[in-house]
Amino acid sequence: MGLFEETAVKAKDAFDAVAKKTNEVISIQKLKINAARVESQISKDYEALGRMFFDENADNEELGEAYKTLIDGIKDSKEELESINSQIDEQKKTIKCPNCGAKNPDVSKYCSECGEKL
Ligand SMILES: [Zn+2]
Repeated sequence: MGLFEETAVKAKDAFDAVAKKTNEVISIQKLKINAARVESQISKDYEALGRMFFDENADNEELGEAYKTLIDGIKDSKEELESINSQIDEQKKTIKCPNCGAKNPDVSKYCSECGEKL
């Protein structure tokens, strides 16, 4: 083999090595995406299982301490969420200005748009 052929063969080997590496990287990324998809499915199934268990055992007095602690935690969080949501509803309450139709918080005495007494 002459010098030119040798160089060409070396260049091809180098190219093949890079191409192989690139394919490896791509297939690792694909595998990671696949792994993330499966992990996400597992989490969803765990959550569904947990909800099912909660619904069936929310008032079960014979459960072990660890279950009771988690169930009570969920009950507390649900109460907290309800309270937060009702505060949001409270904040959202508006009255419509009789003059210009602008929405004002129901605690406002005057319209923020036109100054009409509400
Ligand atoms: Zn107004």
